[in-house]
Amino acid sequence: MLEELRQLLGRRCDFEPAEITDERGLFSARPLCVVYPETTDELSQILALANQRQVPIVPLGGNTGLCAGAVPHPEGKCVVLSLSKLQQVRHCDEINYSIAVEAGLTVAEVAAEAEARGMYFPLRFGADATAQIGGSIATNAGGSGVLRYGNTRELVLGLEVVLADGRVLSGLEGLRKDNTGYDLKQLFIGSEGTLGVCSAVTLKLFPPLPHRQVALAEVASLTQAVELFKAARDEVGELLLAFEWMSAPATAISVGKGLSPNQAGMDNGSDLVLLELASALPDEPALRMEKLLTQAIDSGLVSDAKIAASQSDTEKMWSLRELIPQGEKRQGGSLKHDVSVAISALAEFVESASQAAKAVDPDVKLCLYGHIGDGNIHFNLLPSSSSSAQATALSEAVYGAVSQYGGSFSAEHGIGMLHTATLSRYKDPVAVNLMRQLKSLLDPNNILNPGKVIA
Ligand SMILES: Cc1cc2nc3c(=O)[nH]c(=O)nc-3n(C[C@H](O)[C@H](O)[C@H](O)COP(=O)(O)OP(=O)(O)OC[C@H]3O[C@@H](n4cnc5c(N)ncnc54)[C@H](O)[C@@H]3O)c2cc1C
Repeated sequence: MLEELRQLLGRRCDFEPAEITDERGLFSARPLCVVYPETTDELSQILALANQRQVPIVPLGGNTGLCAGAVPHPEGKCVVLSLSKLQQVRHCDEINYSIAVEAGLTVAEVAAEAEARGMYFPLRFGADATAQIGGSIATNAGGSGVLRYGNTRELVLGLEVVLADGRVLSGLEGLRKDNTGYDLKQLFIGSEGTLGVCSAVTLKLFPPLPHRQVALAEVASLTQAVELFKAARDEVGELLLAFEWMSAPATAISVGKGLSPNQAGMDNGSDLVLLELASALPDEPALRMEKLLTQAIDSGLVSDAKIAASQSDTEKMWSLRELIPQGEKRQGGSLKHDVSVAISALAEFVESASQAAKAVDPDVKLCLYGHIGDGNIHFNLLPSSSSSAQATALSEAVYGAVSQYGGSFSAEHGIGMLHTATLSRYKDPVAVNLMRQLKSLLDPNNILNPGKVIA
């Protein structure tokens, strides 16, 4: 197989690869080799070869995934398939508001391509300068624009996917309506490279919304943050682009770069909400933000608020939110739980999960924040000890509460290698069984990212 790969790709095969480690530093392994196809045709030949020889293939995007999906499984020799050289913009249709790009462009590069053509691509998250569009499709990434534009799934008009046996499923036409049977592309979005390899995608673009207004609002509790969300939706509707909640301990550890809550003019000890409004009309976001926050202060929902007065203020406010994960790293790392429940159940769930965690470790510190406009909380814990038994008990406590409130134990980040056991334990057995059947249908030799998603 290695010799055949050399013949196919020449120098674009690395036979002495370094170990690949996941973003969180939890898993490391060295593959047999890393291959760098440049075209869909090469990708197809690699998969056909791997399928004949029954050699596992691990698709690799920007390796920013948070569940170790792109790291070789420690038990198996495998070929890592880097998508980084699939870099073409295939087609841009300014009337259809769509762009067809290959999988290896980063999310930020896709956004820049759209912007250069006077349009807007709304996927935005902390790693978007490194994460590839193919990897974001494979993980159905969300981020801070979900409230208005949906997850990656909602942004995909069509996919080109190379199947395990090398056949190419092609659907880049950019149709906005197509009810000719099953919507097969949906199977591959969020499948983390276990059902097929995405080589290209046609994405929805939008008219730009150049006028933005960001603000921070101080709230007494998560219940008030949720009430503010309802008030914001009622007051500004579709103008609401982002609604991020940060508990006081989360903003406190975020400090180090950017600004502290105190420098932002807020109390260091309060929970904060970051709101962003966007519109095509110049003064609309600023005026509507001011009205919304004045009403919220008058009604006692918000105790204080600061509206960004400059681009620098805006960046500093966002950095307060985006630097929380780095703050967690500085504290020695956190035990992460990326969970979701219905927005209306958020406050009760957080109360219940916090009590359950404290029953396991009375000195545990909670570092909670998230995209609460999507019902998504990063329920992260800083345990009092590094005991792995305690970490397992804490996660069980949190996931128990998630289950009790009908939520999801992995709202954004997927399953990868990290959560296969949790999936078997908490997902509906009927759904898990159907997932296994789909996997055997599409990848009967189990060559695509084995050991990920379903063990
Ligand atoms: C700082 C930071 C902030 C983040 N914030 C958010 C957030 O707010 N919201 C959110 O949803 N996520 C967030 N993420 C996670 C984000 O969704 C993923 O990191 C990203 O989508 C993965 O893209 P990637 O190219 O790095 O994929 P990789 O990490 O390389 O791969 C991820 C998975 O997809 C598979 N894969 C990769 N490319 C392909 C392909 N072309 N075809 C098939 N399978 C493929 C891999 O095998 C692996 O299973 C964050 C991550 C970081 C590091």
